[in-house]
Amino acid sequence: MSEFNINIRDLDSSGEKEWTFPITRHWLTDALEGTGLAPKPSASQDSTLGTVRVQAQRSGQDVVLKTHIETEVRGACSRCLDDVSIDVKVDVSSLMTPRATLEPALKELDVNPEDMDRDTFDGDQIAVDSLVREHILLEEPMQIDCGRGCEPIRVPPQIRGAHGDADSIDPRLAPLREIQLNRKE
Ligand SMILES: [Zn+2]
Repeated sequence: MSEFNINIRDLDSSGEKEWTFPITRHWLTDALEGTGLAPKPSASQDSTLGTVRVQAQRSGQDVVLKTHIETEVRGACSRCLDDVSIDVKVDVSSLMTPRATLEPALKELDVNPEDMDRDTFDGDQIAVDSLVREHILLEEPMQIDCGRGCEPIRVPPQIRGAHGDADSIDPRLAPLREIQLNRKE
């Protein structure tokens, strides 16, 4: 269920409004499930681990959203696997088009709305949950580094081969090496 819902009926006469939502531990836990990231540890399930601020501005039939996301997540250092804190502070602008106005135009052009890289909304409600989740995940660095100059995890000699030579690899592991070589091609 979405927690960051804005209702465009609430936009004022100049077509603007701002919302602020807490990022709950519960929401963040769900959002990070199955990724390499996790919420920072805290005692309570209900604790607040950040905020989502949404400024909406009507532009004709469309709505322009400026979303500011601020939270902290944890990942594992890619070398020593220690817990590393990742600060998330990101601004996202998006243009939301009512599905009802977009669909007839796409039908005429024979374009499937699902193939269209454009954010749409139905009725008066816009949920920004998936947008927030996506941008939190994008903040994860390619290589998480604890910054303490840690050493890469040592590969035990029996796996590395007696002389650290790939050709003298343990024969029991040879099939794995084949897989790895095939992947590189
Ligand atoms: Zn490390």
